[in-house]
Amino acid sequence: MTQTEPSTPPAVLFPLGDPFGSVALVQHVGDDKMIVNAARVSFGGDNDAPLTSRDEKLIGYLLKNQHGSPFEHNLITFKVVCPIFVDRQMVRHRVGVSKNEVSGRYVEVQERLYTPTSFRRQAPSNRQASVQDDGSLDQQAAAAAWESAWQASYGAYQQLLSLGVTREQARGVLPQAMYTESYYTFNVRSLLHFIGLRDHAGAQYETQQYARAMRQLAEPLFPVTFAAWDALEQH
Ligand SMILES: Cc1cc2nc3c(=O)[nH]c(=O)nc-3n(C[C@H](O)[C@H](O)[C@H](O)COP(=O)(O)OP(=O)(O)OC[C@H]3O[C@@H](n4cnc5c(N)ncnc54)[C@H](O)[C@@H]3O)c2cc1C
Repeated sequence: MTQTEPSTPPAVLFPLGDPFGSVALVQHVGDDKMIVNAARVSFGGDNDAPLTSRDEKLIGYLLKNQHGSPFEHNLITFKVVCPIFVDRQMVRHRVGVSKNEVSGRYVEVQERLYTPTSFRRQAPSNRQASVQDDGSLDQQAAAAAWESAWQASYGAYQQLLSLGVTREQARGVLPQAMYTESYYTFNVRSLLHFIGLRDHAGAQYETQQYARAMRQLAEPLFPVTFAAWDALEQH
């Protein structure tokens, strides 16, 4: 019998520390045992018995040898409220991921903006990356510029709507830091791939926070798989 029993995950997390950005666990299908059964059906060995230490070793073996398909029978659905620029990175994950998003054509875009609590500098050596402010950034001026851009763009959006302009055109003036919301469903294989790439020092800070939140919600549901994946240190 395994020592690592699934526990109840928290229902909702707030990755960016404001009340808008959130990741909620909506539903899940399957468990570590399903992964084992999917693998063992190859030789008629699937069963209803509780997970054993042999099963746990099998999960490690499957991950190590990149036998990916047994990890595709489990599904996890999150409701993700994230800045549009984070969502643009999430939608790049095409395989084993389903998404439905709020439509700015149907509904008026809510007044929800992500505002960084601290602005970062451009990294000197990596053109994609950022580094923490060493004190040389004028945080106040950066916050003021951010706020005035937001006031101008959301004000223009409201003005366009009140002039009778259609929502699908008016939204064009809104910034990438506005929150959008989606249901995302991953299978375990695609979730591990996503977390491996996005809960990583090379990924954007804000996207890392979302990947970590998803992991925090998913790990208690598939504890053996996450433990085996961590042990591999290949992600
Ligand atoms: C730190 C970081 C920086 C990035 N920077 C940029 C950037 O500057 N510009 C940019 O455009 N993107 C960028 N990306 C996005 C990146 O190129 C991938 O699109 C994204 O990470 C999704 O990864 P993926 O294709 O492996 O995932 P998925 O789309 O989920 O695919 C999963 C796997 O399926 C296979 N697969 C999927 N589609 C194909 C296919 N068409 N042909 C063959 N095999 C396939 C591959 O093995 C792939 O790894 C960045 C990603 C990261 C993590």
